Amino acid sequence: MSARIAAVNQRLGEACRRSGRSRDEVRVIAVTKYVSNETASEAFEAGLRHLGENRWPDAKTKLETVGARSEASPLWHFIGSLQSRKVKDVVGRFAYVHSLDRLSLARAIDAQAQQLGITVPCMIQVNVSGEASKHGLAPEELHAFARAVAGLEGIEVAGLMTMAPHADEAEAARPVFRGLRELRDELNALALLRRPALELSMGMSGDFEVAVEEGATWVRLGSILVGREEENA
Ligand SMILES: *Cc1c(COP(=O)(O)O)cnc(C)c1O
Repeated sequence: MSARIAAVNQRLGEACRRSGRSRDEVRVIAVTKYVSNETASEAFEAGLRHLGENRWPDAKTKLETVGARSEASPLWHFIGSLQSRKVKDVVGRFAYVHSLDRLSLARAIDAQAQQLGITVPCMIQVNVSGEASKHGLAPEELHAFARAVAGLEGIEVAGLMTMAPHADEAEAARPVFRGLRELRDELNALALLRRPALELSMGMSGDFEVAVEEGATWVRLGSILVGREEENA
C-alpha cells in the first residue's frame, strides 16, 4: 500500500509541477469500492483520510469499521449515482456527495440535511462528454440547475464533477476536463450560486495526471491506489 501511495504522490507532484500548480491544491480520494474492509482499513491507516464509495449497501460495513479503533476518522465521499430513496442513508454519513445530477435528488438531500440541521457539500455532476451511458446534467442545463439549487439551504455546491469516457489514451480525456473547468469558471463569473464553487472532482486511475493539469482539486483513485480485489471487482 505505501509503495502505491508513494508512486501516486510522485506522479501527482510531477503533474502539478508541469502545470505550475501547488501540490496542496489537489486532494486524493481513495476509492475503496473494489476492495475488502480490511484493505480499506489498511489504506486509512496508511494515511489516506478521504475515502470514496459508489453504492450505499457496499459502503455500509466499511463506514462502520474503517477507523473505528482510531482517534481520527475517515471522511467519506459518495461518488456513485444516488437514488433518492438512499438519501436518508447517505446524508449525515458522507462528508461530500459528488453526484448531484437532478433537482428531485437535490430536494431530497436538502430535506434530509435540514432535518439533521446540517449543510451537505455537493458537486454537481456534468456529462461533459455527452456519452449516453454517463450520468450527469447536460452542460446547457447547468445554469438553470445552479439557480434552482442555490435556493436550497441544506446544500452547498462545492464544485463540479465529471467522468471522462473510458479510453486507452489519457490525453483523450483532456477536452472533457478542460470543459468542466470552463463550466465552473463561467458559473462563478455569473455568480449563480450563494458562493463560488471552486472544486473540480475529476480524474481516475487512467487519466488523473491530465485532470490535474486541467485543474482538478479532487482526484478519485481506486485501482491504482488501493488496488482491485477480484471478489469485489
Ligand atoms: C470507481 C470510480 C472511480 C475510481 O476508479 P479507478 O479507475 O479504479 O481509479 C472514480 N470515480 C468514480 C465515480 C467511480 O465510480
